[in-house]
Amino acid sequence: MSKNLAKVQDMLDGNYKNKIQVGVGDQEVEQTRQVGDKWVDSDGRPCEQRDGYQVKGRLATSNITHQSWDNKCSGCKKLIVKAWDKDCHKADGRCYYCQMEFEDNLKFDKPIRWFAYRRLKDFINMKSIEKDMEQWIDEMEKQREKNPFDMKVANAMANGEVEMSIKKNTQ
Ligand SMILES: [Zn+2]
Repeated sequence: MSKNLAKVQDMLDGNYKNKIQVGVGDQEVEQTRQVGDKWVDSDGRPCEQRDGYQVKGRLATSNITHQSWDNKCSGCKKLIVKAWDKDCHKADGRCYYCQMEFEDNLKFDKPIRWFAYRRLKDFINMKSIEKDMEQWIDEMEKQREKNPFDMKVANAMANGEVEMSIKKNTQ
């Protein structure tokens, strides 16, 4: 039996200990975590970085942690509540308007700095895509806890399709 099918079989048998890993190899262990970061460890447990310590399992997925996104703008110190402010704040720590102002100032006063800033930002965007994926997996895990049967079928189908397309490609 192939690895994928064995995994599906495990799930259908009611063994949910399938491991989900994000990142390449052990790289994720070496990453420096920031307060509010969430990820899934190599045992498939959700984790969250708090101020000075890490929490694992249920604590990391409780509703309390969702408020860690509600933060203050590093520029004008207002509370980040609006969706566009949140998007901006996640990446830059500023609210939308402070970020616009910051970028405008850089563009006109310090073009070389602006160039370096954009390059850095591209790099950070890659990181945040990775983070989005981790959150997506978190969400999938939660959904599965809520409704194991549906996820069982969905996973079996998804993995079956992956299996089939791999076969097609290698033939
Ligand atoms: Zn601001």
